[in-house]
Amino acid sequence: MSNVQVAVVTGSNKGIGFAIVRALCKQFQGDVYLTARDPGRGQEAVAKLQEEGLRALFHQLDVDDLQSIRALRDFLKEKYGGLNVLVNNAGIAFKVHDTAPFATQAEVTLKTNFFGTRNICTELLPLVKPYGKVVNVSSMVSHSALRGCSQELQQKFRSNTITEDELVQLMTKFVEDTKKGVHEKEGWPNTAYGVSKIGVTVLSRIQARMLDEKRKGDHILLNACCPGWVRTDMAGPKATKSPDEGAETPVYLALLPSDADGPHGQFVSDKTVRTW
Ligand code: NAP
Repeated sequence: MSNVQVAVVTGSNKGIGFAIVRALCKQFQGDVYLTARDPGRGQEAVAKLQEEGLRALFHQLDVDDLQSIRALRDFLKEKYGGLNVLVNNAGIAFKVHDTAPFATQAEVTLKTNFFGTRNICTELLPLVKPYGKVVNVSSMVSHSALRGCSQELQQKFRSNTITEDELVQLMTKFVEDTKKGVHEKEGWPNTAYGVSKIGVTVLSRIQARMLDEKRKGDHILLNACCPGWVRTDMAGPKATKSPDEGAETPVYLALLPSDADGPHGQFVSDKTVRTW
């Protein structure tokens, strides 16, 4: 088993994830895994970095596919005995003008952004080594979507005692409510992406609390963040930040020094902790 440190970035064949891998290749002392659901796109991205003189390794990972997640888990366990840095970046967003029914958008978006991220965490968090860092890429949109929720939902999402099971039930209820056409009546905002990112932010707060309760001595720091508005296929060419600029906050959180005791369990944008 290798003693080398290892970092993994989900959804990193393009966009912000790719830029995070690029920055980690320059700054992280260890092996950096670029992962992609499509091996062809992944290998192409690795080759692009190689042309820049950077060495990323590749592993297939589809966050929608539990088998794929478990294959990566087993690989990391066997080759490295765990992992040091995990960046949950993979995500999707329907375009504003997409004509797919809202219920479909809700189901598909929540599947990847919330349930996929959660499945990765369920399988990989137990493998994160002491002093490890976990970064969940959420969005400022989670804040605006939270403000669009009913007072009752806001209270639940801001609670310091909400459990992962309760959060999963709420995210499942959102999808079911959209199918029944009652999501607005039930207090949800009209944004599937926003609700999925509420899920990611709240999940991060819960996971940080669980680490405090169960693995306090391991000094693992786990945060949610927003990369900013970034020029990628998701956000389009009018966005204000380049992918490399978008990678700055996630990379800052991924490389917090080993003597740092925070941020932890926070939502961070522009390297600054924001109130949830
Ligand atoms: P992007 O350019 O569309 O890239 C998304 C990446 O996620 C791609 O590599 C994509 O792979 C991958 N992905 C999607 N579904 C996946 C799955 N099931 N399994 C594995 N990988 C999957 O988007 P981006 O702008 O870089 O976004 C990255 C993250 O930042 C997302 O979580 C997004 O919500 C968040 N974010 C972005 C902005 C922004 O302004 N861009 C703002 C706030 C937050 P494929 O190539 O195979 O599709």
